[in-house]
Amino acid sequence: MTFSFEPDPEFANELEWIDEFVREEVEPIDLFVADPWNVHDELRNALIVPLQEQVKERKLWACHLGPELGGPGFGQVKLGLMNERLGRSLAAPIVFGCQAPDSGNSEILAHFGTDEQKERYLEPLLAGRIVSCFAMTEPQGGSDPEVLTTSAALDGDSWVINGEKWFASSAHAASFFIVMALTDPDGPAYKRHSMFVVPAETPGIEHVRNVDGHHGYLRFHDVRVPADHVLGGRGEAFVVAQTRLGGGRIHHAMRTVGLVRHNFDLMCRRALSRTTGGEQLARKQLVQAAIADSWCEIESFRLLVLQTAWKIDKYQDYKRVRGDISAVKTLMPRVLNNVASRALQIHGSIGVSEEMPFMTAVRDSYVMALADGPTEVHQVNLAKAILRGYTADTDVFPDYHLIRRREQAEAKFADVLARHGVSAQTNS
Ligand SMILES: Cc1cc2nc3c(=O)[nH]c(=O)nc-3n(C[C@H](O)[C@H](O)[C@H](O)COP(=O)(O)OP(=O)(O)OC[C@H]3O[C@@H](n4cnc5c(N)ncnc54)[C@H](O)[C@@H]3O)c2cc1C
Repeated sequence: MTFSFEPDPEFANELEWIDEFVREEVEPIDLFVADPWNVHDELRNALIVPLQEQVKERKLWACHLGPELGGPGFGQVKLGLMNERLGRSLAAPIVFGCQAPDSGNSEILAHFGTDEQKERYLEPLLAGRIVSCFAMTEPQGGSDPEVLTTSAALDGDSWVINGEKWFASSAHAASFFIVMALTDPDGPAYKRHSMFVVPAETPGIEHVRNVDGHHGYLRFHDVRVPADHVLGGRGEAFVVAQTRLGGGRIHHAMRTVGLVRHNFDLMCRRALSRTTGGEQLARKQLVQAAIADSWCEIESFRLLVLQTAWKIDKYQDYKRVRGDISAVKTLMPRVLNNVASRALQIHGSIGVSEEMPFMTAVRDSYVMALADGPTEVHQVNLAKAILRGYTADTDVFPDYHLIRRREQAEAKFADVLARHGVSAQTNS
């Protein structure tokens, strides 16, 4: 039996290098570059591109990809250990070429793109020269696919797309969009939509505005793309979306482990540094409880993330781990919210100010409860996955009813009980 909580020595070395590189070289960039996705920002390029080169030389670039796509094919467990080091910094995933939504979009293109699309988009995306956008959510809703109305109609050998998309991250910097549109409104619920690759320069795309500087509100007016720009076939949008969401969700969770740990470290340092009422905060029992609870939450979350990563590597089938990924996705915002809120509280007034990172982390926890599907939807999915492993009891007094269990035990041990003078008590 092999069971280990330790990486091999060679990879442990790489993790050490990543840790130091992120702390020393990448984290300072977060103080100057608010949008590391924006490949059109010259300051961003001056600071980030040289670091990307170092990562490529170190052979740690795009580690979510297999060798056929130019990555080392680390697998999810190694990726998990690596990503928890990247999670401390906004720019780090970009520096290592594994940022959302591009990581998921590259998987879609690799699976479903034509050779021409791969050459035109996948190759520069994987090299970090361009970024991409995934546009599914619409102003009237994101968690219920039935309310999505952006449509695509076949006209000769083109598809013509009309409608609106909302919260499309990185739309302002993207070279192409992956757009979900209704193609068969009367088909079965999960066969009505198709996925399209839409070049950003296609006429008819209106950028209504950028929400919070990063998420596009887009309008499509008769946006025409060639017939081969449908990805994965007509009516296959949900199959295509799952290709990116499975990996995308677990990678977010891996990075969140790092972000939560960072908040926790700062909380512990403050507890030891600050005194009130004549003693260190660290000596107050309620502060100790906050530290102990946070540690337990982080460690159990991390183990669930790594176990899910291990299952993905083992089964190579995201469908088999859908429940596990929903569990991770449900826990992720809760753990970040709890720990960042406690860190904020223990820092007192400076904790709520913009001079500390805690408010941003608390806000991020709400984002994590929405992006890639709201928590409630994942709770429902998880519960359904769990319940598939059970069957209903038909008897009003089920077999675990203690009187019935005693009855069965009395029958099983009748001889021994009789020899020891224990009489039957059952009263069915
Ligand atoms: C920072 C950020 C980045 C994003 N990036 C992208 C992107 O790049 N591309 C993209 O397409 N989308 C993106 N989204 C959108 C995201 O996918 C949606 O916010 C999400 O799917 C929820 O959709 P909604 O916001 O329309 O909320 P709604 O669907 O209106 O849901 C609102 C609330 O209703 C509740 N709810 C919903 N369903 C259920 C249920 N079954 N049971 C119980 N309660 C329920 C939940 O509390 C939910 O938060 C992003 C969102 C955020 C916050």
